Amino acid sequence: MNTLKTSLLGYPRIGENREWKKALEAHWAKKISEEELLQQTEEIRLKHLQKQKDKGIDLIPVGDFTLYDHVLDTAVMFGLIPDRIQASGAKTSLETYFAMARGNKEAAASEMTKWFNTNYHYIVPEYSKGKMSLNENKPLQAYREAKDKLGIEGKPVIVGPYTFIKLAKGYEDKELPQFILELLPLYEQLLKELEQDGVKWVQIDEPILVTSITHDEMKTVEFIYKKLNEAAPDLSIMLQTYFDAVEWYEEVMKLPVQGIGLDFVHGGEKTLASLKAYGFPKDKVLAAGVIDGRNIWRADLKKKYDLIQTITAIVPNERLLVQPSSSLLHVPVNVRSESHLDSTVQSALAFADEKIEELVQLAESVNIGDQGKHLFAANETAIRTLAKSEARNRSAVREAVASITEKEAQRTSDFDVRNEKQQSKWDLPLLPTTTIGSFPQTKEVRKARLSYKKGEWSAEKYEGFIEAEIERWIKLQEELGLDVLVHGEFERTDMVEYFGEKLNGFAFTKNGWVQSYGSRCVKPPLIYGDVEFVEPMTVKESLFAQSLTDKPVKGMLTGPVTILNWSFVRDDIPRSEVTYQLALALRKEVEALEESGITMIQVDEPALREGLPLKKEAWDQYLNWAVASFKITTSSVEDTTQIHTHMCYCEFHDFIDPIRDLDADVISIETSRSHGELVSSFEDHAYHNDIGLGVYDIHSPRVPDVEEMVQMIQRGLSVLGPKQFWINPDCGLKTRGESETIDSLKNMVAATAKVRQSL
Ligand code: GLN
Ligand code: ZN
Repeated sequence: MNTLKTSLLGYPRIGENREWKKALEAHWAKKISEEELLQQTEEIRLKHLQKQKDKGIDLIPVGDFTLYDHVLDTAVMFGLIPDRIQASGAKTSLETYFAMARGNKEAAASEMTKWFNTNYHYIVPEYSKGKMSLNENKPLQAYREAKDKLGIEGKPVIVGPYTFIKLAKGYEDKELPQFILELLPLYEQLLKELEQDGVKWVQIDEPILVTSITHDEMKTVEFIYKKLNEAAPDLSIMLQTYFDAVEWYEEVMKLPVQGIGLDFVHGGEKTLASLKAYGFPKDKVLAAGVIDGRNIWRADLKKKYDLIQTITAIVPNERLLVQPSSSLLHVPVNVRSESHLDSTVQSALAFADEKIEELVQLAESVNIGDQGKHLFAANETAIRTLAKSEARNRSAVREAVASITEKEAQRTSDFDVRNEKQQSKWDLPLLPTTTIGSFPQTKEVRKARLSYKKGEWSAEKYEGFIEAEIERWIKLQEELGLDVLVHGEFERTDMVEYFGEKLNGFAFTKNGWVQSYGSRCVKPPLIYGDVEFVEPMTVKESLFAQSLTDKPVKGMLTGPVTILNWSFVRDDIPRSEVTYQLALALRKEVEALEESGITMIQVDEPALREGLPLKKEAWDQYLNWAVASFKITTSSVEDTTQIHTHMCYCEFHDFIDPIRDLDADVISIETSRSHGELVSSFEDHAYHNDIGLGVYDIHSPRVPDVEEMVQMIQRGLSVLGPKQFWINPDCGLKTRGESETIDSLKNMVAATAKVRQSL
């Protein structure tokens, strides 16, 4: 009898206790040598492979492990090492590799950006004509290692050529054919070598196929795969897609590959509809992503079982694999350390290891054909208990969301009316200067928060410390001559966690880390229940700051969409509904601030853009509820209350409409790193409300000089009038040192004064 087999697309690198991160950072701090690093990471890698084998996974991915980032690995393997890095005096290939990722004394790092719609960041490959060669065959090395050391017949994983090209920069559209023609022979060579070594399956990742690519691009993909298939006819290619449904289903089905991996979770309905409508080719294997690789909740295995039954009616078991919807890179390792959580929440969690167990259970129950009743019992109970919990059934919250109307998302008056009232209320100079919210989180600040958390410091001592910090910075801001002040956010570890801890509906893991970029890991909060306001969260600090100065102090909170996008979110109700709950809770905070007399209030939404769906046709729907949520948060205030918002890392040229729709009185945005790109987008699109120009890059310790910022401001003034602009750094200053922060702000105020004189 043919049994249903299981497969994985990738496994977290970081290790159960972030051993991987620790090894890397020890090496960078020169505490361990290259040999030690390689040895320690080999141990981690082999342990992970052995674990997958022990848990019963049939087709285990190899080569998904990395010392920084798998896209960077691919670029280095193909020789795409920028000249400036090559000339920068790195002595070993590993030093060169890390220099690309992190920069060194001589050369700037390569750019880093988000991997599709995840919070994982990859290093952007830099194409350079005539430079590429196959330096090493990393997937082959990984295959041999697993086979020789563990007897595992692994499935090498590699970033697909079209995805790689589309993620790379350093070429113009017209050079694309050249890039492809240079790159293809290297992939062909790589695959040939795998074939010669007896590799059965290779997984070629092409997530780009789920984005809105054109039909012409699809033709290019056909050309590429024809070549690859011809190069290694005895090798089976698993063309792997994930994160959404493929854009060109019928065309993808016709590609000359031996297997196709589809996501039946994200974009799952569409994938299933296509499968039903167009079928699946009889000469191929379907790798069905049925367990969510992006979320941390246990799967409803009965539903997954039924899904598999639906699929097997079209693709029989012998041509089917079941797997997670994507690499497990995006979820934490296992729930073992989370016993501090409420048992209702804890029992409903599944991280990477638990997902593997779910997958194996699913396949097993399909194979024994008993609908897995007894196997699924634990999952079913956990899901049911959480569903019935008080936390998920707060009727007041549900009713409040259900009764939201247009009115809640609309300020009383139009911007012009508000603006006039606000101007006469504050009487600020032209080009008011301000900052984005946080000031340097020095060692002392972090130590104080930790001592308080551990119980070593009393609440009194801790609060006294925070107040002293606020006081010191209010004085400093006055001395610098800033027009609108902030309290500095010293009490916040993180802009999402801080609010999550104070709202109902959130939980926090001890060890739920996921890789964000390089060795940097984040521990997103869990939104597991209905979100509810409990008591004011920011009023005390803002009021204290305001009591020390006659200048206005901006209240400071994180917006609903950013809290959503930087958390693991419950999956039993739509994301839009969770965001509305957040919006209503934060609206109460805005009202509490206003009531206490804080009437300039900034609601940060740096993650608004990153929640955009991969497919353009789904953008409007997302933006509708995301923008509405921001407006629900901010619209109940008086005309004279000024709403600010802030966004960073945002490409604006195609995003002005949603920004306009937010109808914030002032939006501060990054301008400095995008080199005036933002300003030029305002040349093409009318924008009415006030804009805070981010006139210097806070991501670097460099102190920008006055003239540089004068130019940045003047560039802004060349497209919009002086009444519309505010002047600020391009993001919060918490990662900066104190003296560079003061020097930079001094120059920023001086630059503003200089421009004001010329007006
Ligand atoms: N108010 C926050 C800060 O200043 C904003 C951070 C952000 O945009 N990422 O740190
Ligand atoms: Zn920012």
